[in-house]
Amino acid sequence: MDPKGQRVKLNDGHFIPVLGFGTAESKEFLKSEALEVTKFAIEVGFRHVDSAHLYQNEEQVGQAIRSKIADGTVKREDIFYTSKLWCTFLRPELVRPALEKSLKNLQLDYVDLYIIHFPLAMKALEKCKDAGLTKSIGVSNFNHKQLEKILNKPGLKYKPVCNQVECHPYLNQSKLLDFCKSHDIVLVAYGALGSQRIKGWVNLNHPVLLEDPVLCAIAKKHKQTPALVVLRYQIQRGVVVLAKSYNKKRIKENIKVFDFELSLDDMKAIDGLNRNIRYYEFLIGVSHPEYPFSEEY
Ligand code: NDP
Repeated sequence: MDPKGQRVKLNDGHFIPVLGFGTAESKEFLKSEALEVTKFAIEVGFRHVDSAHLYQNEEQVGQAIRSKIADGTVKREDIFYTSKLWCTFLRPELVRPALEKSLKNLQLDYVDLYIIHFPLAMKALEKCKDAGLTKSIGVSNFNHKQLEKILNKPGLKYKPVCNQVECHPYLNQSKLLDFCKSHDIVLVAYGALGSQRIKGWVNLNHPVLLEDPVLCAIAKKHKQTPALVVLRYQIQRGVVVLAKSYNKKRIKENIKVFDFELSLDDMKAIDGLNRNIRYYEFLIGVSHPEYPFSEEY
């Protein structure tokens, strides 16, 4: 952790801000607001922005970053930008063109982190790092066996710096977190606020995280909101956390995660909420041999 406690060092020497701005928007009518909300997020203090080819917003998100650089709010090196390689581009010869396409949409020279959106291919990603198109490389939605497979790969040049997975008090990923920590891999949490509860994307039978009575009681005690409690929980256990919002009031609220601290008892109580609830099941891939969520962790 750096002195301000707002960035952690990755295993390749780069730093990642512990709070990230999630940009995936499931509501079609809100997608056009990616430019405005990303600019706003940077204005209120977010320095880590998470997107992907799949989210179809890299043009707007890139424009937002460039406009905040142009008006002097930030320098390029102040922003940590993550993009992701989608499953249709996993053949080695498709990897660099996919990243170049993202860079073209973004109108940026490099991304800070490029991750494999879903388990598979790594060698071609190493080459993108060597070519300077991305500062760091990582993975997403890998279980520990899939991570192990990569780590044990003969001739592995760069370890993944992160594994971006669903993580929140109902699926706290404590075993995967321990595994990642023991290999100096940062766990990045998505769905940390309980996911975008959109039919077809997530299992809507699961309870609403932010209405959990334990979280609400802890929030009340600290005069904070349940959303801030679940974000703070992740940062205090060494997880980098993404918070998606397309609402300016809530974007502003989420940056307040650095203004308070949870006690050990609070942390224990939140740990006690774990119940293996996965909102994003990606059932479309369930019959694939690399479907990651059949393993315990
Ligand atoms: P989150 O769990 O971060 O957020 C869920 C919802 O919470 C948002 O839709 C938002 O709605 C609402 N919200 C935000 N702030 C607050 C607040 N302070 N109080 C109450 N509600 C709030 O969403 P995601 O599941 O999208 O995950 C975050 C990011 O992770 C994504 O945007 C994407 O960048 C990444 N991701 C990566 C995946 C992968 O496979 N690698 C899969 C899924 C997500 P509103 O906008 O109305 O504020």
